[in-house]
Amino acid sequence: MPTKGQRKHAKVEDKAVTLFREYLRIKTVHPEPDYDGAIAFLEKMAKDIGLPSKVVEVHEGRKILIMTLVGKEPGLPTILLNSHTDVVPVYPKEWKVEPFSADKMPNGDIYARGTQDMKCVGIQYLEAIRKLKAKGLSFKRTIHLTFVPDEEIGGILGMKLFIKHEEFKKLNIGFALDEGLANPTDAFTVFYGERSPWWVMVRCRGNPGHGSRFIENTAAEKLRKVINSFLDYRGMEEKKLKSTGCLTLGDVTTVNLTLLEGGVQFNVVPNELSVGFDIRITPTQNLKEFEKKIKTWCKEAGTDVTYTFAQKNMDQTLTSTEDSDQWWKAFHKACSDMGMKLEKEIFPAATDSRFLREAGYPAIGFSPMNNTPILLHDHNEFLNEDVFMKGIDIYCGIIPAMANA
Ligand code: ZN
Repeated sequence: MPTKGQRKHAKVEDKAVTLFREYLRIKTVHPEPDYDGAIAFLEKMAKDIGLPSKVVEVHEGRKILIMTLVGKEPGLPTILLNSHTDVVPVYPKEWKVEPFSADKMPNGDIYARGTQDMKCVGIQYLEAIRKLKAKGLSFKRTIHLTFVPDEEIGGILGMKLFIKHEEFKKLNIGFALDEGLANPTDAFTVFYGERSPWWVMVRCRGNPGHGSRFIENTAAEKLRKVINSFLDYRGMEEKKLKSTGCLTLGDVTTVNLTLLEGGVQFNVVPNELSVGFDIRITPTQNLKEFEKKIKTWCKEAGTDVTYTFAQKNMDQTLTSTEDSDQWWKAFHKACSDMGMKLEKEIFPAATDSRFLREAGYPAIGFSPMNNTPILLHDHNEFLNEDVFMKGIDIYCGIIPAMANA
């Protein structure tokens, strides 16, 4: 006897779900993503839907796939539906299924790396366009879909390069939709800004000597002060987040010690020790003031303490969520018309949207996954097929609203 859940899903699988699972099985996982496999698969889908597509190679082996649905007024600024094709690595032993088999449980949960981040969205865009086209609908503005590589390793050879490319400029983008996060409640989260990632390496130099003595002015003493200053600040921000019910992770600055370097052997006091921090600065924080803090912490630690940046994002552009903004108004109205509850947030990590916003294009991060735990980059990432299918309907409401704005 099948259980209740099994009976419910004993129905024939929707073609969209089958395509989603096929896409999940293509191993676009770092460090060697099968980008050609993903592009071949998506090109086939585009052909099937009747969307002209083209490939732009922005760097060797780094291709952007562009699909286009031409609008009735092609001179107007266009709508961009962006998604990245790459996914982060897995620890297969920690998974209850093979992470690239896209197994479906009796209750409809599909397990695979990329189910949430963000192969779901790529297929949902396409399936929504398929449905809208089948209804014979056409729109005022042209719609472009882009499938980009390397988002998960910083987008340097992906969106960052593409934005400067002649082919990007030709797209004449007015507004972009990109990835968001799942929401465990029945609400949907929309992201209108991101925190600025700063990766700081602090180098402490001091006197070397024998490990049996009280050497003065050591690198270790300075390192300890540096670590204390950074982590004390971390503690304050964590307290701020936890003491008020109204803040989300994107509203505070996080600091994490992620690298430690130095030392040669146990009985040698090293003349240099380094520590690396991953800092994500909330957009309400003044960046110049924040760098002053870092400078002060290093100075207070002693002489010969210097810092360098491996990444220092200085852009704090937010996308408008005012009713006076035509794009936000269209997005918000489409969601309200479908009875969706929205929660506006600052994205806690970084996505390709930051390159778009920095270049002056308004962008909203949105992945239609409610009633779903946030499992991006986590073990056992999954998405329920009903939530996935509902997402297609949601885009069927949002895409025409944006393309007719
Ligand atoms: Zn992502």
